[in-house]
Amino acid sequence: MTRIGVLALQGDFLEHEAVLRRLNVEPVEVRQPSDLADLDGLIVPGGESTTFCRLMQEYSLHEPLRGLLKAGVPTWGTCAGMIVLARRVSDLPFPTLEALDIEVKRNAYGRQVDSFEADLEVPALGELPYHAVFIRAPVVAEVGSGVEVLAVLPEGDPVIAGGSPVAVRQGNVLATAFHPELTEDTRFHRYFLGIVDAARRRSGAK
Ligand code: GLN
Repeated sequence: MTRIGVLALQGDFLEHEAVLRRLNVEPVEVRQPSDLADLDGLIVPGGESTTFCRLMQEYSLHEPLRGLLKAGVPTWGTCAGMIVLARRVSDLPFPTLEALDIEVKRNAYGRQVDSFEADLEVPALGELPYHAVFIRAPVVAEVGSGVEVLAVLPEGDPVIAGGSPVAVRQGNVLATAFHPELTEDTRFHRYFLGIVDAARRRSGAK
């Protein structure tokens, strides 16, 4: 049985859990360090990154989560989750998990466009465009050399200059600036479960 933890301190963890169940994976809600035992993967949902980072400290989860990431357990952050995983964040008064070599700016798409949707080309998911929902999303300002860009905003997007990365991967760490847990298309969840399966196979698990 694959065990996927969903950080359940705040934000839209229930939506992630619902998608996992649709894919026949029973999620594990993570609220305290003992919930991290034997996880094959972890999802950090959308919500409010300042609250996540504050609560991770209050619940003594910060160091155990860093340990999990250092051990290479596949982890996926969506929107606020992307911020929580980023190495550098402008305007955040708490430490992140520093697991992904990107720099993000919070709420940088501008007030008028707090939320928007875009059809993305994501070669890793196949030919069909992926309809992505952005809600007060972070802008990825810089991407380190070891980071693979899986999708960028299309050119001509009215929000900011096209070409801005919105889905990235560094080894077993995945991050999307948008919310796949809020749409019907399960391809990003299946893509993440593929990373989890590959990691399990490499470690010799059944
Ligand atoms: N703006 C939020 C933050 O800075 C992220 C919003 C979201 O997850 N939808 O954490």
